[in-house]
Amino acid sequence: MSRILVVGGAGYIGSICVEELLNAGHEVGVFDNLTEGHRKAVDTRARFFQGDLADPSVIKLALQEYAPDAVMHFAANALVGESMEKPEKYFDNNVCNGLNLLNAMHETGVKRLVFSSTCATFGIPDRVPIDETLVQNPINPYGESKLIFEKILRGYGEIHVLKFVALRYFNAAGASGQFGEDHRIETHLIPNVLKVALGQKQAAEIYGTDYPTPDGTCIRDYIHILDLARAHMLALEAPQSGFYNLGTGGGTSVREIIDVCREVSGRDIPVIERPRRAGDPPRLIAGSDKVRKELGWEPRHQDIRRIIESAWAWHVKHPNGYGD
Ligand code: UDP
Repeated sequence: MSRILVVGGAGYIGSICVEELLNAGHEVGVFDNLTEGHRKAVDTRARFFQGDLADPSVIKLALQEYAPDAVMHFAANALVGESMEKPEKYFDNNVCNGLNLLNAMHETGVKRLVFSSTCATFGIPDRVPIDETLVQNPINPYGESKLIFEKILRGYGEIHVLKFVALRYFNAAGASGQFGEDHRIETHLIPNVLKVALGQKQAAEIYGTDYPTPDGTCIRDYIHILDLARAHMLALEAPQSGFYNLGTGGGTSVREIIDVCREVSGRDIPVIERPRRAGDPPRLIAGSDKVRKELGWEPRHQDIRRIIESAWAWHVKHPNGYGD
């Protein structure tokens, strides 16, 4: 058992990782400023520190007081579209505030980190599946900000002897029984389509139908949030630092997602076709050999239908999300 501080543990991915860490017997603290996250998404078994990484003294104090064996860092902005309009927000939060965390860890002697990176660091890949040997060439400030942080990690790893694992997520989706996806401004495909099924939105929107894919819509590798959380448990035990692409290796188009949402919900889901959204690569599929071989990770909930069923069950139970 270890003591883990989860920074950004009140958000979608962080909250479910917290739940899984606790289920696995770890002691967990959550540090979150609650701008994106929700107090109700913090597992009641965890100790909560409300604070903002923008203030270096606050995170340093939390690390001194909690004295964790490792930190998981989820606190970031993660919307491609928004990053194309407000790049400064992405560099400030994802780079500068992340650096405050790393410096506070260095000053307090915390030597282990699991970091949420992204497939957006690759940009438009020359080939799929995207494995770790591909050149990283982001096409939006979000991907750029995460790539800068990956480079910072290399430096801190070598010089400050920080042991880190950076997991480059593909598309996180689905829910655990207790926690799910609730963004104050929802831009993600699956929750938006399910809002239509719930009668909260008139029609699902498809951003771009002229991509070079079989049905003209973008293809993504959707990974069940519980599979994603398990990769974090394995990352904690990793013998050495590394970067891992984390997806299932399967791809689903926007139209296919909408069809599965129709089947799972049994509801009518009208569709509006829109122009492309800026910054979206046509096809992102993970090459996951490295994470499978080196961390022993395997997806257990790969079926997109199962993933959407878990999301639907959560949204039906929480039609207004966390209600804040
Ligand atoms: N998308 C869409 N309609 C929506 C939301 C998203 O067509 O209402 C598309 C988006 O352009 C992308 C894919 O669905 O090709 C997945 O988008 P999402 O925002 O869920 O995740 P991202 O891949 O941007 O991290």
